[in-house]
Amino acid sequence: MKTLIRNGTLVTASDTYPADLLIDGEKIALVGTDLPAGDARVIDAKGKFVLPGGIDAHTHLDLPFGGTVASDDFYTGHKAAAFGGTTCHIDFVIQGKGETLHQAVENWHKKSDRKAAVDYGFHLAITDLNDKVLDEIPSMGREGVTSLKLFMAYKGSLQVDDTTLFKALVKSADAGMLVMVHAENGDAIDVLVKDAVSKGRLTPEWHALTRPDWAEAEATMRAVSLAGVAGAPLYVVHVTCAKAVDQIAYGRARGLKVMGETCTQYFFFSVDDLRRPDGAKWVCSPPVRSHADNEALWAAVKNDTLQTVATDHCPFFFDGTREMMYEGKPVKFAGKELGGGNFSKIPNGVPGIEDRMPILWTHGVGKGRMSMNRLVELCCTNPAKIFGLYPRKGTLAAGADADVVIWDPNLRRKMGVQTSHQRTDYNLYEGWDVTGMPEKVFVRGRLLVDGETWHGEPGSGAWLKRSTNGAVL
Ligand SMILES: [Zn+2]
Repeated sequence: MKTLIRNGTLVTASDTYPADLLIDGEKIALVGTDLPAGDARVIDAKGKFVLPGGIDAHTHLDLPFGGTVASDDFYTGHKAAAFGGTTCHIDFVIQGKGETLHQAVENWHKKSDRKAAVDYGFHLAITDLNDKVLDEIPSMGREGVTSLKLFMAYKGSLQVDDTTLFKALVKSADAGMLVMVHAENGDAIDVLVKDAVSKGRLTPEWHALTRPDWAEAEATMRAVSLAGVAGAPLYVVHVTCAKAVDQIAYGRARGLKVMGETCTQYFFFSVDDLRRPDGAKWVCSPPVRSHADNEALWAAVKNDTLQTVATDHCPFFFDGTREMMYEGKPVKFAGKELGGGNFSKIPNGVPGIEDRMPILWTHGVGKGRMSMNRLVELCCTNPAKIFGLYPRKGTLAAGADADVVIWDPNLRRKMGVQTSHQRTDYNLYEGWDVTGMPEKVFVRGRLLVDGETWHGEPGSGAWLKRSTNGAVL
């Protein structure tokens, strides 16, 4: 089956230009002017932009956490992603204690393979690194799981020590793999949380006050330095504040192979949101911080200290005692109410996989904070390059997968639970107006989203074997 998208304006990381785009089967066959339709179905994209599908490099679908589970699985999360113009994501496999890396990856395949509706890959979060597991790392790279994540926070559960982090950096650099870190000083945070709880300081704002920006800055600099010692590339996930941005800039200025990501929510929200009566909705780690930090992040994506924008999509219900309807069926998941008046017990995570591109379009491009090309670079092209998916994904070029978004710059939407496809009972951007939304979304040539209509099917998404030696940007 062929599809010809005519009269659109193509937007890539480097160019904006009028052209037709021909999809043949799963691939982009041709980009050019006045392409003949032949037997192709023709879609007129006059007045619209044509973008490569978004890639969200940081998600947690169906993740067990704090006595419950993230409420989007590999079907509902994929549907939401597609409606937001994201056609590919990389999810975190979490190694259980005592598990081999292969077992951990197998567990995530069981969650995802029959549900997937868009394409996806896996990162591998290492929580238990013995010598056997260390030796297993290079084989993961050969099998297409080419990035590892280590947590410097969550003492007593996910946190690893510096020996583990350093060994992983050395081993993965040898294997052409990339280490990612959640950079917060979990030891200091553990002391601060216990102290706050013992003093009865239990409201959600204490989630931020017990995870100060210096704890993020310290861990970021420690990881940057250890990457320098190891000669290894490093990717710092969900950077939230000016102090952490400064550490990445320091490493980059000295020629280290250090990169960073932020997530949509960190551009907009602050500890003030945690002080609201429904502040638990904003509990994620690292925490939302200050307006000055919001501004520092806009600057950091502009000046290329940070190379990607992801979401850390990890939704929990705000009130998991109440059902909501999803695809005509009632669903209910325990959620933020598990905090029960104690911030340290609130499941950490926020929804956002669907919101990322429309919010950045309106509040980034629309407000002059970034160009359309930079949005594509941050949300599509750079994640593909860094994580070994380029040029199959992340751009509009002959031979690439036909992951294509027809973007209507005039389409208006009020963001919120009513218009969202994320399977959760709240939205961080509830009531916000956006102008500019995906109108049609193709994944490998199949039309998944057509206006309000969903054509996706569970099991049609493909797991992606990624390449080693991704780009260092
Ligand atoms: Zn995460």
